[in-house]
Amino acid sequence: MRVVDYKKQVLEYAQKAYKQCLMAGTSGNLSVRTQAGHIVITPSGMDYLSMTADDIMVIDLEGRIIEGPHQPSSEWPLHAEIYQRMPEVNGIVHTHSPYATAFAVLNEPIPLVLIEMVTFLRGDVPVAPVATQGASEVGLGVVKAMKGRTACLMQNHGAVTVGENLPQAFVRTEYLEDAAKIYHFAKAIGTPTHVPAEMVQEMLNR
Ligand code: 13P
Ligand code: ZN
Repeated sequence: MRVVDYKKQVLEYAQKAYKQCLMAGTSGNLSVRTQAGHIVITPSGMDYLSMTADDIMVIDLEGRIIEGPHQPSSEWPLHAEIYQRMPEVNGIVHTHSPYATAFAVLNEPIPLVLIEMVTFLRGDVPVAPVATQGASEVGLGVVKAMKGRTACLMQNHGAVTVGENLPQAFVRTEYLEDAAKIYHFAKAIGTPTHVPAEMVQEMLNR
């Protein structure tokens, strides 16, 4: 893939996330890792609907700008930490999607209550400890909390999903928000049950 195609893909999924109300205002950020090992990432604090592919930034793992006219997302250290510690990951989506973030505010993990959480999220959804926006500990906390899974809540902040590519990370964000919404409704009307452990193991082995 050419760098311009990565930029177009980041723009496409950023606008999709915004239109699906997974991100409010200029919140959230998305990135892909290129074959050259650079990070193609949304710029900081920019309106998603007027954004063009030329606004998307290319940086290295130390945050140095390779291409682009803006500041990269303030959360670039989160993205860089994940790429450094999870070699299988090439796409990251960070949002403040409302249902998932409500559980992040409660510092409450989302238990394994839906079978699709096994397929798409590889398990329950843990919460990474609260950390200042853009601080390097954000990424470490997320990587530690995520262990073996593909999604994680960020206490008092939002959510992050990862994938082998950006489309996969994005669909996981959609399923994470769906799971958080369903769990919220289930808790409101009764006591949610969990997917039996043997079934989870069987699905993971398949
Ligand atoms: P940026 O606009 O700098 O990416 O920040 C948005 C955000 O969600 C910070 O956590
Ligand atoms: Zn954020």
